[in-house]
This record gives sequence, C-alpha cells and structure tokens, in this order.
Amino acid sequence: MTDRVTRLAPSPTGALHLGNMRTFLINWAAARQNGWAIVMRIEDLDGPRVKPEASQQAIDILDWLGMDWDGEAIFQSHDLSRYEEALGALSRKRLTYRCPATRSEILAAASAPHVDDHEQRYPGLYRPENRPADAPPIPEEADTAIRVIVPEGEITFVDELHGPQAVDVQQQVGDFIVQTKAGLPSYQLAVVVDDDHQGVTDIVRGDDLLRSTARQVFLQDALGLSPRPRYYHVPLVLGEDGHRLAKRHGDTRTAMYREQGVRPERIVGLLAWWCGLTDTREELAADEFLRTFDWAKLSPDPIIFTPDDHQWLMQNT
Ligand code: GLU
Repeated sequence: MTDRVTRLAPSPTGALHLGNMRTFLINWAAARQNGWAIVMRIEDLDGPRVKPEASQQAIDILDWLGMDWDGEAIFQSHDLSRYEEALGALSRKRLTYRCPATRSEILAAASAPHVDDHEQRYPGLYRPENRPADAPPIPEEADTAIRVIVPEGEITFVDELHGPQAVDVQQQVGDFIVQTKAGLPSYQLAVVVDDDHQGVTDIVRGDDLLRSTARQVFLQDALGLSPRPRYYHVPLVLGEDGHRLAKRHGDTRTAMYREQGVRPERIVGLLAWWCGLTDTREELAADEFLRTFDWAKLSPDPIIFTPDDHQWLMQNT
C-alpha cells in the first residue's frame, strides 16, 4: 500500500450506465494496480434528484462487475457538519453572500447570454458591492442560496490526461453556489471538503467534470486545503448522435443488461475494448482488466456506444 487514496463516487440520481461503469472500472484498476486505497463515497446530496434505492443499486452493480473498495460506503448526507464548518470558514473570510435570485432573474440580467451545455454565468446580481447602499438586507432564514465570491483571473491546474489548464472561473460561471436553496452544500463544496477529509490524492472521473475542477481548486485554496489532488479526466461514452449517454439512447443501464442475463465478463469485455486493452470484443474478468489496464492505451477521444456493441452484449442471453 502507498499513502495514495482515490474514491468511487456514484451519484444515486439514476442507474449507472455503461459509460459510468467504464470510468469506475478505470478508476478501480488504476487504484488497484498502484496500491491506492479506495473510498466508496455515495454523493447523495442532490436533493429531489436522489433516488433512495439507487445507492444500494450502485454498490451492488459495482460489486457484481468485480470492483472492490476499502471500508464501508460513506454517505455524504449522513454528516453535514464538515460542510457547515467549511461554509463558516468562507463566510468568516467574507467570501460568501446570500443570493435569492431566481433562474429567470439571472437570465434576464445576463447581458450576453452565455449558455454552454447547462450552465449560465451568474452576473453578480446580489454581490454585496453591486447592491445599492439602501437595498434591504437579504433575510438569513429565507429560501436563498449562498454564493462564493470568485476573483477575476485564471485559475490553473494540471490534469494528468489533458495537461495544463487555465480557467477564468469568474468569466466561466461567475460567483457560484456553495449552498443550495434547499440548505444543502453544493456538489462543488461537498466534493472539496470530502476529498480533503478522506485524504484523496488521486481523482479519476469523467471529463464532463474537467470544467468544474477550476472551481474546486479555487475552493481548496480559499479554504487553505493542501496538497492538491492529482486529476485524471477520462473521455466520456457518447451515443451515436455525439451526445453523452442518456435516456434518449435507450436503456443503457448496466443493471438492465444484468437483468437480461448478460454476464459481468461480457460487460467488462466491452469496457476493456473501449479502453484499448483488447483488439476485438471478448469476454474478460475484472482481474484481467486490472492486470492489462494501461493509461497509454486509453484513446483521448470519446467512445461511441453503437448498436453493434449492444448486439454483442446481448448475444447468448
Ligand atoms: N458523483 C459525481 C458523478 O457521479 C462524481 C463527482 C466527482 O467525481 O467529483 O458524476
């Protein structure tokens, strides 16, 4: 064992599809090849989107596919105290403010709408310095989010797969949310607090989160947390239309294939082929995947899940 630690961090907001599984399997293999400890962390703070049965289903399917981890699963929702402490620390540094803005208010105020994917830049509406001196105070107990004050300028970090990155978070998303209107820590805050508390040194995840990383690095620095983890953002699995796997691509849940009688070796075999470990689709046990996994073989391009892949999985069922 080394003193390196990673985490498997499923969100129980829906069933894990083959793309999620590929990322988890890469994460697990990288860890087990190198003697990193693995924390199983259930990211169940996403309020109404969390489906109670999905946590256990995520654990079951990762186990069924052949992955393991160290210790019991940790649920973010079971102890909110560390997130509250971190919010308190940011607030004492005068880095936070309450923001009751609605989505439509933000959209109306954004002079140049800047919608890429799903995020709208927050134009600083309730930033204290932007408020008229005689504006009424924002009541503490009201249904308001808390935002963190992000300075102008680039935040830099290195991704092990994508190389050096520089992101102007203020330009990208503006002052972002650290506590939601529901009174829960935001994903960005929770992940930073947990990675620090759990001693996570190596973060392997889908490259849709590359754009969140500068926000997390900013929060680490604002909270005085170190050392910075190493990041490995792996390409996603997309549908044939070039969009990331979702319901519109049909049922790509790993659990669906399991219910249809597909063996775990078959799924691992497809994921291994997608990782460049084999020349053709062939069945492979998780420990074989672990033995042969090699970052250098991983294509930097997204993987496309095709009907042929689906057909191959369903053969002999
Ligand atoms: N829970 C997140 C997800 O399932 C992963 C968060 C992370 O790795 O930082 O997308």
